Amino acid sequence: MLIVFDLDDTLIDTSGTITPYKLKEFLTFLVRRGIDVGDWENAIAEITQLDKQCVTSKDTVRFTLERYGAVHLYPAALALYSEPLPKDFRIPTTPHAKNVLEVLHSRGNRLALVTGGKKDYQLEKIEKAGLEPALFSKIMVPADMKKRSAYESLLKDFLVLPGDCVVVGDRIPMDLVPAHDLGFRTVHMRWGRGHLWKKEKWIERSISDLSELLEIL
Ligand SMILES: [Mg+2]
Repeated sequence: MLIVFDLDDTLIDTSGTITPYKLKEFLTFLVRRGIDVGDWENAIAEITQLDKQCVTSKDTVRFTLERYGAVHLYPAALALYSEPLPKDFRIPTTPHAKNVLEVLHSRGNRLALVTGGKKDYQLEKIEKAGLEPALFSKIMVPADMKKRSAYESLLKDFLVLPGDCVVVGDRIPMDLVPAHDLGFRTVHMRWGRGHLWKKEKWIERSISDLSELLEIL
């Protein structure tokens, strides 16, 4: 079996650690640029609430800038989101992620990681979470967040049939829909933004702890 993982909010707890940190950075940036965000605690609470409803952090940034009449700051604000994290910043994995990867690997499965975003930043997250890159036969970072072509190239590289591949991810439209279109099996990780979507009939399993994979794969 080829098991393809998403990174953010699937293997690592992005929404619990990186997101709150980046939201504060973003608000601090706005204040430095002379934007009146009002009461700091309120502003944090509001942007946190907004972020939970948004499908991507780009949307959070855009809606917030529109609200403060500061859309001209969009490129600079977005750049903040993929700036390196502080040296001592540690990112926890989601529960049991490391153990599950090791067990699935030891059972003879091939593992791959397909994560959208800026390559350096995504690799930094893998390192800061202490995930073992050697467990993955392939790590792909498609810059445009479009995963379909990455999945297709995995089929060619590993000479596997779609039915022998499973994708595990939290975002149904980005991670699972293109996989399902290609005939892959799909597992929805309900973590972080993964809570935004309801279970779809075609999704094989919905989980909130990766150790549930050990029973089905
Ligand atoms: Mg994700």
